[in-house]
Amino acid sequence: MKSLGVLTSGGDAPGMNAVVRAVVRTALDKGIAAYAIYEGYQGMVDGGDRIRKMDWWSVSGMMQRGGTVIGTARCPAFRERAGRLQAARNLLACDIDRLVVIGGDGSLTGANLFRQEWPDLLAELVKNGEITEEEARHHPFLAIVGVVGSIDNDMCGTDMTVGADTALHRITETIDEITSTAASHQRTFIVEVMGRHCGYLALMGGLAGAADWILIPESPPEADDWEEAMCKALKEGRAAGRRDSIVVIAEGARDRQGKPIHSDYVKKTLEERLSLDVRVTILGHVQRGGAPSAFDRFMSTLMGHAAVEELLKADADGECYMISIRANRISRAPLMECVEKTQEVATTIAAGDYDKAMDLRGGSFKEALNTFRTLVRALPRPPEPGQKRFRLAVLNAGGPAPGMNTASRAAIRLGIDRGHIMLGVQNGYQGLIKGNIREMNWMTVAGWASMGGSELGTTRKIPDRRHFYSIARNMEREQIDGLLVIGGWDAYEATYRLYQERENFPAFNIPMICLPASIDNNLPGSELSIGADTALNSIVEVMDKVKQSAVATRRVFVVEVMGQYCGYLALMSNLAVGAEQVYLSEEGVTLKGLQRDVEDLITGFQIGRRLGLLIRNERCNPIYTADFMSALFRQEGEGMFEVRQSILGHLQQGGNPTPFDRIQATRLAARCIKFLIDRAENGQKEAAFIGLQNGQVRIQSLEDFPRVVDWGCSRPRYQWWLELLPVARLLARLGAATTDVTFPGTRK
Ligand code: ADP
Repeated sequence: MKSLGVLTSGGDAPGMNAVVRAVVRTALDKGIAAYAIYEGYQGMVDGGDRIRKMDWWSVSGMMQRGGTVIGTARCPAFRERAGRLQAARNLLACDIDRLVVIGGDGSLTGANLFRQEWPDLLAELVKNGEITEEEARHHPFLAIVGVVGSIDNDMCGTDMTVGADTALHRITETIDEITSTAASHQRTFIVEVMGRHCGYLALMGGLAGAADWILIPESPPEADDWEEAMCKALKEGRAAGRRDSIVVIAEGARDRQGKPIHSDYVKKTLEERLSLDVRVTILGHVQRGGAPSAFDRFMSTLMGHAAVEELLKADADGECYMISIRANRISRAPLMECVEKTQEVATTIAAGDYDKAMDLRGGSFKEALNTFRTLVRALPRPPEPGQKRFRLAVLNAGGPAPGMNTASRAAIRLGIDRGHIMLGVQNGYQGLIKGNIREMNWMTVAGWASMGGSELGTTRKIPDRRHFYSIARNMEREQIDGLLVIGGWDAYEATYRLYQERENFPAFNIPMICLPASIDNNLPGSELSIGADTALNSIVEVMDKVKQSAVATRRVFVVEVMGQYCGYLALMSNLAVGAEQVYLSEEGVTLKGLQRDVEDLITGFQIGRRLGLLIRNERCNPIYTADFMSALFRQEGEGMFEVRQSILGHLQQGGNPTPFDRIQATRLAARCIKFLIDRAENGQKEAAFIGLQNGQVRIQSLEDFPRVVDWGCSRPRYQWWLELLPVARLLARLGAATTDVTFPGTRK
């Protein structure tokens, strides 16, 4: 087996390091030598110590760092054949004929060209006497796999690019901060974000930050006098009680005629037409910087792993691929087709064909834009004359999950906008039992989009026979026509009980829908629940600190994370921080396994390890608790390492929701309100639960609930993420040595 090279090129993006780490370790696991090529294509052209052999440890401790540790550069020389000839010679000197290229469309185009030219380049090197014919024969083709690193999320063929989620974090945090100062002074802020040809960051940032208006390249404002439409929206927002106004603008924003729209122009317009106090904030490179988000760590890790697998399958005549993300899963897509389509978006925008540009961006982009426009339009307007006004109740139930407020706000505003009366139930089912129900108005939910916790209040109360009568009486008294329950396992179980009691209590014969909001991610019908992404980010942030605290001494940390009987948070945080072992409720813990881990820990520390990070899911085993495990490791590792335990606890349920949780919460709430109104209008009494499956919103009958769950363990029967376990095990090993050695196969 030959050698493989990995490089980062073009603009840097947070998450690139996680790809490099996964590429190197996967390669080593497969017995392939791995080289990092420093400073992008420039390093390949320069050769020498810019191409360095990596071992298991040369990539440790890099995942939490922003940017790219191995450097990136723009390299004019690589655009010339002479530069590429030199690059080929340098690769051959290390026996490299397989490359993982992490970069944007420019870098990937360069890679493809290099691959096409490879046989000719080698023939020329033979002719020049720089390599032998034997050497050329030995490397008949160059295999390339691309991983897209770009904070703009501008590549067609993949739902997400490395770095985009982190950039969205930076943007959303900034909008949150600006909103608080803007509200204090009743100011208007224009926030300019990156994206020359791609409005992803502006659209999603605007949606997550509850902005009043956005301007993006793909979909310029419809009206010729768009300035008036924008001013009207802001004016109405103020009239409805808003104290601040936020306009998010992509740097490539333009009007229908193709004329660029600059922040200064928007500022001038708002000042002149509305006499507002307007400030402009241009985010610039802040968006590129900082530690990668949890998503940019675990997804990039999975992409790096997949890239090596793909590279090993490559042959001379085969298609050249890039690793992509489709509906939350790792996939692959034909490299040049995606690059060409991406470049087509830019030319389509330049040609003014915006419908086509939006088509090229895909379904969820369009859906997000529609949701944004609906929310912006949504105002407390009076109902249509003669309209039937339904009374729809919203309640939060189960453990607190960041994003509950975002979902409640969207549901309440969208319901009011459609002319209906929205009721808020306080403290979950407890409030329904006690009759704590109040009418919500437009401004009751102001500011909720970005707030963690639950403003309505939530409890884990699951009603039983003693409570159904009071619930029914209160529902009748309030004349509730539809019920939206936002919450976790307890919320689902409680709603299912009501559904089962329909024959006995006619008040329960109304449309009902459950929206998955639980940090545990243990709900059926949805691959992800609202709050889990925020919890994961909180865990990752704390673990970075735990890791830092351990550098000086030889320490083993046993860290316990939440999740009830669901190991999602444990496994994903394991992937995101590169912990050495993970204990899941789904797998259980055995004494034999623990004994093996003790032995591996001792081996690891004997050969130079300084830190061991072990993550346990809170219910992985009732007997082998965090205390037990810590005591066991302490006793057995005496003199070798110290053991500390850290139970992360409720910080995991707190914090402001991440952009992903806000966007999905809004998306799901909009669909739930539509469901309730449609059913109520048609006199239907369907009870259901909503979720995200294969990237789509799906609604399933509540009747299916017992069939799709493992009731005893409060989790879905099928959990898609368990298939990621082997990769997690492969990339982090307790007994790994410090130097170049061959590694035994994946641990069982
Ligand atoms: P990005 O990869 O982020 O789109 P660039 O377009 O600047 O960034 O490309 C990064 C590097 O990739 C360039 O400096 C150059 O070395 C190489 N590259 C880009 N386009 C080509 C091309 N058409 N042919 C050869 N090399 C290219």
